[in-house]
Formats: sequence, structure tokens, C-alpha cells
Amino acid sequence: MAKFKKIVIPANGEKITVSEGKLVVPDKPIIAFIEGDGTGPDIWKASKKVFDAAVKKAFNGKKEIAWMEIYAGEKALSVYGKNKWLPDETVEAIREYNVAIKGPLTTPIGGGIRSLNVALRQLLDLYACVRPVKYYTGVPSPMKRPQDVNIVLFRENTEDVYSGIEFKSGTKEVSDLIKYINKKYDKNIRKDSGVGIKPISSFGSKRLVKKAIEYAIANNRKSVTLVHKGNIMKFTEGAFKEWGYEIAKEEFRDFIVTEDELYKSFKGKMPEGKILIKDRIADSMFQQMLLRPSEYDVVATPNLNGDYLSDAAAAQVGGLGIAPGANISYTTAIFEATHGTAPKYAGLDKVNPGSVILSGVMMFEYIGWNKVGKLIENALKKTIKSKVVTYDFARQMKGAKQVSTSRFAAEIIKNM
Ligand code: NAD
Repeated sequence: MAKFKKIVIPANGEKITVSEGKLVVPDKPIIAFIEGDGTGPDIWKASKKVFDAAVKKAFNGKKEIAWMEIYAGEKALSVYGKNKWLPDETVEAIREYNVAIKGPLTTPIGGGIRSLNVALRQLLDLYACVRPVKYYTGVPSPMKRPQDVNIVLFRENTEDVYSGIEFKSGTKEVSDLIKYINKKYDKNIRKDSGVGIKPISSFGSKRLVKKAIEYAIANNRKSVTLVHKGNIMKFTEGAFKEWGYEIAKEEFRDFIVTEDELYKSFKGKMPEGKILIKDRIADSMFQQMLLRPSEYDVVATPNLNGDYLSDAAAAQVGGLGIAPGANISYTTAIFEATHGTAPKYAGLDKVNPGSVILSGVMMFEYIGWNKVGKLIENALKKTIKSKVVTYDFARQMKGAKQVSTSRFAAEIIKNM
């Protein structure tokens, strides 16, 4: 038990384990949390109160979360010392306890780490970034019908131009690489170029699309759209699409119909209970998300498209302040705020805790405590509808009552 140096394992909790690829969740599961930097502590304090109140309400004391603090970012520096932005035991604890939730983290400037979030994703192979995007009545939105947006985006998290294989213009590495490619493959890359590599594998694409289809099946969703730029990048983005269709047919034949099959075999009429697998080119998808959002449901896409699309979709329903997210591997998952640390509001009890609270809703669904998730989501809906909101929403809503982070959380608890 004295395995960790600084992490205190809650004595009253039990580990969430995995059996045959499925989570086994005890009545008092240990869940790891990182409170986050900047506004993170304010947001975490408020969110934890909401989570504990909802669990208590749902299970009458029979179940509860045993929270285990783990450290990353600025707090890790104060607990572990200089340069320890992401201590090994933090990563180890998440791997061992399977489920974690976190606030936003400062990106260290200089020093070896590009981003703590990216490091966590890579170290734990959290290959799917999952972002549900839907509208809550009353949230200020630039759309005429924001209620038509209800998608869950699965973004591949480990490959693509984000895999960090980049060579700076003018270096020996890039010069060698350019010479080799130009000569060997008769290409004409300019000598003064910087070069980035875009690997997209069958393995990476298939496991991502598989996760998206499994989600669609488990949650009675209607379609999975593969978003790619395969008309131009045929062997990376185009291959992603092909591999996506392949895994859909190989592993989910009885559950799915492709768009081609829909017209060839079913005269365009969707057979009852099946999930439609379709694909869209990324640029067209941005238009579709504005013009015909109700036609899209679960979306699976490579890393770069997914990065752009998830923020653009979040803006359609009121922005990142309340957009939740998760980074998931086969069984390990980190639920997280999608916004940054908003440092100018740190310690002011001011910002919107909605993103962490809704990430918590995802977390409760993930561990099978759907009742808790529903309680929180409904109470949040009611609170926003009653126009009791934090400053970011209040300034855009007519007749709103502006409240602090902690007051907003208290209001959610009252509305449960
Ligand atoms: P940011 O998200 O912190 O801020 C962007 C804007 O949104 C600011 O105006 C901010 O005040 C506002 N905002 C953010 N969260 C809010 C909330 N909960 N309620 C109301 N308003 C909110 O982005 P940034 O300024 O680019 O980054 C600040 C720091 O956060 C940087 O160190 C950055 O690297 C880091 N960051 C971390 C994450 C993460 O941990 N997931 C994500 C993005 C940025």
C-alpha cells in the first residue's frame, strides 16, 4: 500500500478493476482527481460538491466516491519539487485506478514538456478523445436552432500531424530528409521547408472507429460519420475512411448499414434498429454542422480534423465554458475540462464550472452510474433555464442573475 510517495490512497475506498475488458465498479470506488491550475481549484471544489451531492441523492449513502488526489501542473511542483510537472506516480496511479477526472493545467513554457495533456494522452495511450456536444436551453448561442446539434465526437488522439514528428527548417535532419525524399521518390520539396510527418495507421484508425461504433450501439445512436480529407490526402485521411468502413463491416455487420447499402439495398429507407455508417469530407462537414446538424450523431475523425471540429461544434452550442470531454484508452479514462486555466480569474470564484461538471456526468455514465449523471445534467439544465449563471453566460443572457462558481454549484444541488 505504501506504494506512492505523496499520493494518499483513501482507506475507505476500493479500486475499480477490469475483468474481460469491462470495468468492475465497487460501491466505494476510488477515483483519482487533479484539481488543475489557475481557476482549477475553484472549479474543482464546486464540481466535487455537485458530484457528492448527486451520488448521495441517487444511492442514499449506499454508494460514494472515495476521491484520491493526484498531482500535475503547478501543484505538482509544490508537492514534488522543481520541474516535476507530471510525476511518474501520477501516471502510474491513473493506470492502476483506471478512472480520473481533471481540471485544466497550465502548459509549461520551455522545458521538455510540450503539454501536460498531450503527455498524459501519450503515456497512457488514451487514443480516443470523446466530446459530446449538445445544447442546453437558455445558453447563449450564435445559431438559430442550436437545439439541433447533438453529436458525440470521437477524435483520434495519438497519430496524424500531432504525433510530434516535425523537423525544423534549416536543420541537418530536415535537409537529410528532404534530400532523401526528393531523390528517392522524385519529389520536389523546397530546401527551406520545415517538414512534419502525418502517420495514420490501420491499427489506430480501426480502434478509434470501433470505439465510436460501440458507443453508438450502447447509446442507441442512429449514425456514425467518418470525417476525413481523403479526397486530397488519399493514403492517410482516405485510408482512415476505408479502414473505418472495414472495421464496421468486419466487427459490426449485424448492427450497421453503410450509406451505399442504404440506397442499393434498402431504397434509402433505414432498416429499423440499425446504425448508418457514412462519411463526409472535412470541409463539407463544417458546412453541414451549420446547415444540417440534425443529420449528424456520432462522428469519428483523425486528430487534426477532430481538434478543429470539436471546438467549432462547441461554439455552436455556447462555447467551451461548458463543453465536457474525456480521453479514453481501452479501459483507462481521464475526464477533463476542455477549456484552459483562465489564469486572470484564478481564486476569484468567478468562472463557469460547467465543463468539469459535465465531464463528471460523462464519468458517471462511464462507470455505469447513469442515475447520478442524469440527476446532475437535469439539475444543470434547470439552473441554466432559470438564468442563474456565471458571468460568462450572464453577460449574454437577458434578465440573468450572475452568481459565483460556488453559488452556481449550490444552485445545481438545490435543483437536483
Ligand atoms: P483559456 O481556456 O484558459 O481561456 C480562454 C478564454 O476563455 C479566456 O477569456 C477565459 O477567461 C475564458 N474561460 C476559460 N475557461 C472558462 C470558464 N470555465 N468559465 C468562463 N470563462 C472561461 O485558454 P488560454 O488563455 O489559451 O490558456 C490558459 C492556459 O491554459 C495556458 O497555459 C494553456 O496552455 C492552458 N490550457 C489548458 C487546457 C487543458 O488543460 N485542457 C486547455 C487549453 C489551454
